[in-house]
Amino acid sequence: MKMSWRKYAFFQALGNRLRRLILWIDELIWPKRSIVTGKQLAGPGLIEPEFWTKIRFLDCPVCACCGAPVEALQDVRDAYAMEECAACIARAPTFDRARAVFAYDEVTSQLVLRFKNGGDRSVLGQVADWVCQIANDLIIDADYIMAVPLHPTRLRKRGYNQSLWLAAAIARKTGKTLSHHMLKRKKNTLSQAGRSASGRRRNVEGAFHIPKRHLKRLEGKRVVLIDDVFTTGATVEACAKCLKRSGVAHVDVVTLARVVSPVDPTI
Ligand SMILES: [Zn+2]
Repeated sequence: MKMSWRKYAFFQALGNRLRRLILWIDELIWPKRSIVTGKQLAGPGLIEPEFWTKIRFLDCPVCACCGAPVEALQDVRDAYAMEECAACIARAPTFDRARAVFAYDEVTSQLVLRFKNGGDRSVLGQVADWVCQIANDLIIDADYIMAVPLHPTRLRKRGYNQSLWLAAAIARKTGKTLSHHMLKRKKNTLSQAGRSASGRRRNVEGAFHIPKRHLKRLEGKRVVLIDDVFTTGATVEACAKCLKRSGVAHVDVVTLARVVSPVDPTI
């Protein structure tokens, strides 16, 4: 049936009005909240305007290996040539590259902790966009996107794995394959909070494993491992060791936040 342009314009205008009405009702029922503070926002956007300048995005020159920002490094041979920091030269990590969206500080910790401990998924769309922008060159090469797994006991208690939420959102946005079942945590490790760097390493040593039936699928593959915060790198290092022992050729690590020296042991 052919529709006259007058009718078409009428239905277009009606559709636009209905859409605006639905958005208005939606905001009335679920007012927009800041992804940093969780408070109701007066204006457009997802963050209070004053926080935009306070978030320290790590899209600056970083160590080519561990992703530490240049200004935080003790010694770097040539940051702009994307070389490695002194720590990575002295002791190369098992993972190949690590990148984070922003530095973990008093502003971003509010966002991270609401996501991590509060299970607030409202931040997910925005943070997944940021991850895809900052770590695009790592994600683009990946065969599998994986998350640092929780032990089943801890998963039952908490009810969710926020790193897996983030990994799933990244996989959806990039069309990459999410693997949520190959890498497993076999030891229900104690919390990393409050431990020294060596204590953290010991705590997660041998904590992860990959069942034999998956080894063939992982042979020679590239994995991007997702976690919420990179503190000393002990947990992702233990995962990378497990993945490489299982035949994975390349492991990159992408986190939402990164502790920039000095290490905050409370996370
Ligand atoms: Zn480094």
